[in-house]
Amino acid sequence: MSSVPVAVVTGSNKGIGFAIVQALCKQFPGDVYLTARDPGRGQEAVAKLQKEGLNPLFHQLDIDDVQSIRALRDFLKEKYGGLNVLVNNAGIAFKVHDTTPFAVQAEVTLKTNFFGTRNICAELLPLVKPHGKVVNVSSMVSSSALGRCSQELQQKFRSDTITEDELVGLMNKFVEDVKNNVHEKEGWPNTAYGVSKIGVTVLSRIQARMLNEKRKGDHILLNACCPGWVRTDMAGPQATKSPDEGAETPVYLALLPSDADGPHGQFVSNKTVQRW
Ligand code: NAP
Repeated sequence: MSSVPVAVVTGSNKGIGFAIVQALCKQFPGDVYLTARDPGRGQEAVAKLQKEGLNPLFHQLDIDDVQSIRALRDFLKEKYGGLNVLVNNAGIAFKVHDTTPFAVQAEVTLKTNFFGTRNICAELLPLVKPHGKVVNVSSMVSSSALGRCSQELQQKFRSDTITEDELVGLMNKFVEDVKNNVHEKEGWPNTAYGVSKIGVTVLSRIQARMLNEKRKGDHILLNACCPGWVRTDMAGPQATKSPDEGAETPVYLALLPSDADGPHGQFVSNKTVQRW
């Protein structure tokens, strides 16, 4: 078994994830895994970084597919006995003018951004080694969407005692409410992406609390963050940040010094803790 430290970035064949891998290859003292759901796109991305003299490794990972997540989990367990850094970056967003019915958009968006991220965490968090770092890429849109929820929902999402099961129940309820065309009456904002990212931010707060309760001595730091508005296929060419700039906050959180005791359980933007 290798004692080399290991970092894994989900959805890293392009966009912000690719830039995170690129930065980690330069700064992380260990093996860096570029992962992609499509091995062809993944290997192409690896080759691009190799041309720059960097040496990322590759593993297939589709966060929508539990078998794929478990294959990565078993690989990391066997080869490294765990992992040191996990960046949950993979995500999707329908374009504003997409004509896919909103009920389908809600189901598909929540499936990847919230449930996929949760499934990765369920399998990989137990493997994160002491002093490890976990970064869940959320969005400032989670804050703006939270502000447009009913007072009752806001209270639930800001609660310091909400459980993961309760959060899962609320995310499923959003999908159901959209299907039944009652989501606005039920206090939800009209954004599937926004609600999925509320889920990611709140999940991070819950996970950090669980680490405090169950693995206090392990000094693992887990945070949600916003990369900013970044020029990628998702956000388009008008966005203000380059992918390298978008990678800065996730990389900062992934490389917090091993003696740091925070941030932990926070929502971070521009390397600064935000109020939730
Ligand atoms: P992007 O260019 O569209 O890249 C998204 C990445 O996620 C791609 O590699 C994509 O793979 C991958 N992915 C999607 N579904 C996946 C799945 N089921 N399993 C594994 N990988 C999957 O988007 P981006 O702008 O870099 O976004 C990265 C993250 O930042 C997302 O979580 C996004 O919500 C967040 N974010 C972005 C912005 C922004 O302004 N760009 C702002 C705030 C937050 P394929 O190539 O196979 O599709």
